[in-house]
Order: sequence, then structure tokens, then C-alpha cells
Amino acid sequence: MNFLPPSDPMQNPTPSHCVALIGGATAGAEVAGRLAGLGILCAVFDQNARPYGKIEDGLPRWHAGLRQKEYETIARKLCHPLIHFVPNTKIGRDIDFRELVDDWGFSSVVLANGAWSDRRLPVEGAEEYLGKGLTYQNPFVISFNHMEDPDFRGERFDVLDDSIVVGGGLASIDVAKIHTLQCTLEKLRERGVEISLAELELKGIPRTLEAHGIQWEELGLAGCTIYYRRRIEDMPLMTAPENASPERLEKMRLGRRRMVDKASEKYKLRVEPLTAPDGLLVENDRLVGLRFRRTRVEHGKAVMTEETFERRGAAVISSIGSVPEPIRGIEMNGELFDFADWDHGRLAAYPSVFSAGNVVTGKGNIVASRKHASQVSREGIEAFLGIAERSEGQTARPARALESAQAAGEAAAEHAASQPRVSEQALADVLARIRSRQQSVGYTGDIESWLERAGTPC
Ligand SMILES: Cc1cc2nc3c(=O)[nH]c(=O)nc-3n(C[C@H](O)[C@H](O)[C@H](O)COP(=O)(O)OP(=O)(O)OC[C@H]3O[C@@H](n4cnc5c(N)ncnc54)[C@H](O)[C@@H]3O)c2cc1C
Repeated sequence: MNFLPPSDPMQNPTPSHCVALIGGATAGAEVAGRLAGLGILCAVFDQNARPYGKIEDGLPRWHAGLRQKEYETIARKLCHPLIHFVPNTKIGRDIDFRELVDDWGFSSVVLANGAWSDRRLPVEGAEEYLGKGLTYQNPFVISFNHMEDPDFRGERFDVLDDSIVVGGGLASIDVAKIHTLQCTLEKLRERGVEISLAELELKGIPRTLEAHGIQWEELGLAGCTIYYRRRIEDMPLMTAPENASPERLEKMRLGRRRMVDKASEKYKLRVEPLTAPDGLLVENDRLVGLRFRRTRVEHGKAVMTEETFERRGAAVISSIGSVPEPIRGIEMNGELFDFADWDHGRLAAYPSVFSAGNVVTGKGNIVASRKHASQVSREGIEAFLGIAERSEGQTARPARALESAQAAGEAAAEHAASQPRVSEQALADVLARIRSRQQSVGYTGDIESWLERAGTPC
């Protein structure tokens, strides 16, 4: 891998700017790929050895086809001579964020670090039982995805029948599916039936059992229940466009009910709506269940009633949403970064910082992350660096959001106009720092062979 800027200015012009990306997955790779294509040198820092983010550690592993396709897309975007990958480097732990922004010499820094923290279970004292009956969705799915990987060094969790899942979004359905699919797989293995997880997920549990002449009841499994605080038709499983008509909204509610019915039947999971966790059931210093309070929905909000009930379960998995992990030096607003401009994820204290993907959108969705990253790059970063192509008719986004995006882009462009191109000396200095960090984590600077070892050649 070439560490120095290309020397022929006609064929390979010296990079005009250098940009750091924090996170190299869907959003980070999208922005880096675009910028490198425009002749900008990029350093992509990722906390993990591989740059696949939630594709590797969020999507449950039965999505084999989608995973491979996304791995290849990310790898293809990162395999560019102007992109320098820096693995196993967590910003905020290994490199100070403020230092990266102020001292390294980057023209701009892009947060593409997704949402790797779990929203806390809103029951007093719950955190005491972490690892003692209580688990959060993010580490649970990571552990499941690496279950068969002997080299995995992270925390491992058992997948237990009759678990309680608190949540209501798509990820909570995945968490419940992990339980019922894995427990069914193990019961089938005990009976000498060998079937892959992907096949079981594709066919569903009833069809698979039927093919082997087995009744669900014979397996002796209780299944898994999701407890959701509002009605089934309120579950955020699909969203309607802004200003949707009442008919469109009703269609969406019907679609949500249908999705839950289908998942319940195909994967033997249950959803108990109108229930909110309200207390802990503890025995011998272990969480053995939860006390729930019945709710009712008023004006779209869950309102607590007087009625409570208790549910015991083999484990409690909280799946009520993912938020960005705090990074020292970045102001928080509650559980989120305190963005001054949400369209481009800009922070008041750092004029050269932008953010792209799930860290801003909060949407657990690959397409949404990629679209947002591309838009931030085009309207924000490229404008900030003064290299944006001005074109009319970029109307893929809702008009209001587009207006504010353009305003932010123009403000950034004004700021950029006062910024000189990065000098050759500054470029050499930043490359030296990048190389020093790469060497300290044992990275040779050759992304192709690094990713090839991960089974995803460029
Ligand atoms: C259980 C589950 C199921 C899902 N199912 C689907 C689905 O079916 N379809 C779909 O479209 N989407 C699905 N998603 C969501 C989708 O995977 C994500 O929304 C999307 O991949 C987010 O991309 P991103 O690049 O914004 O963030 P991420 O993929 O989270 O990437 C962030 C990157 O930043 C790195 N990073 C984080 N912090 C730091 C730091 N401090 N320093 C350096 N690096 C850092 C991470 O290692 C990671 O590589 C699912 C998510 C989950 C959790």
C-alpha cells in the first residue's frame, strides 16, 4: 500500500484535503469512498479489526446473503489508494477526539460511529443485575453472531428458552427469534435432525417440524415473549412517509399487525402489548423475572394503569433501542450527541466535524445509513471543503430537510473558502501519524490482504 500521495499531479493530483472518519462500516465507507473518488485522502479509524460494524455485529447471522453483499460493498469502497484504514483504534479510548480534530491536521472529521450503546432498562436498580439475569441487546447479538467463532474474545451469553424480551422494534423481534430458532435447533440436534440456522429461519419452525413429523409441543419449549408498552399496531416495525394520509396510516397499522402475526406463527414467539416493566423479581442475587404494569394508549402515548403482574423468565434481554456511545469531548444531550444541525450532524464546538449514518439518523437501517452518508458527504463535507459540485434538482429528500441541508452546506462552504488546501508537508505529517498508529496495531497498510483474511477481498 502506498503511504505517500501519488506523485504525478496530472494523473494522480496531490490530495487537496485529508479527512478522518470514525467508523468504517456502511456510512463511513460510503463517505470515504465518495471523498477518495474526489481526490481527498481519508483515514478510516475503526474500533474493530474489521470495518463491518452492525452488518457483522447487529444483523443476526442467518442474514448470510445480505451480510456477504454488504461486506463486499464496504470492502470495495474502502479499497482505494487514497483510503488508509486504521483498525483496532477506538476514538475516545486510544486517540483523544479533540486531539484528532485539532492536532492531527485533518481538514474535517466525520463521525460514522453508529449506535453501540443500549438504552437503559427504565427500572430502578436493574443495572445491578447485568450479567446476573439481565442482558442488553447489543452484546447479546454480538455474542450470538460469534457463537461458533473460537477466536471471539468478547462476552458470551447463553441463549435460553422462556426468556423475556423487553422492546418492540425490529431488533427485539430478531432477539426473540434468536431464542426460538436456537433452542429449536438444539432440540432437533438432540433428536438427530441436523439443519442449519439459515434453513430453519427461511422455512420457519412449523414447516421444518412438519417435514420431520415432529409436533412443536413434543420439543417441550416454552418459546420467547416480547413485552411492548404500546399496542401491536404501534410497534415501530415500518414507518409511513411524512404527512401520510389517514388511509396510508391505517394501512401501515394493518401491516404492523400482519408482520407480528406472521413472525409469531413462523418463529413461535409471542408479543404481549400494553405492558411496561415496573419492578425486578430477584432471588439469590439474580434477576429471575420482571414486574410489569399494564398500560393504555392515550394520544399515542403509553399511560400506566393500576394493574400489575409478575413474569418469571430464564433471562431478561432489554432491547429498547440503541444510542451512540459517548465519546469524551463531545457534548451530550441526554443519550444523544448534542447536534447543532441534525441534517449533517454538526457540533457547535467543532466546526469541521460532520456525522453520517445511524449515529445521527437513529434508524437501524442499512439503506437509511448509506443514503444519509452520501447526502452528508455531498451537501456537507464536500461543500465545507469547497469541492462540491453545485447542481440543481437534488430533490430526493423532503423539501424542508433539503432546505436546511442546503443552508448548512452553504454555511460550511463559506467557512471552507477561508481554508487553504492542505500543504504537502502537512499531508506528510498526517500520513506519518496514521502509519505510526497502523504499525502499533500490527496493520501492514495493505487493506486488500487484511480484508482478504476476513473473506472479503476488494
Ligand atoms: C439486531 C439488528 C438487526 C438489524 N436488521 C437490519 C435489517 O434487516 N435491514 C437493515 O437494513 N438494517 C438492519 N439493521 C441495522 C443496520 O445494520 C444498521 O443500521 C447499519 O448497518 C448502520 O450503519 P452505520 O455505518 O451507520 O453504523 P454501524 O454499522 O454501527 O458502524 C459504525 C462503525 O463505527 C465503529 N465505531 C463505533 N465507535 C467507534 C469509535 N469510538 N472509534 C472508532 N470506531 C468506532 C464501529 O466498529 C462500526 O464499524 C439491524 C440492526 C440490528 C442491531
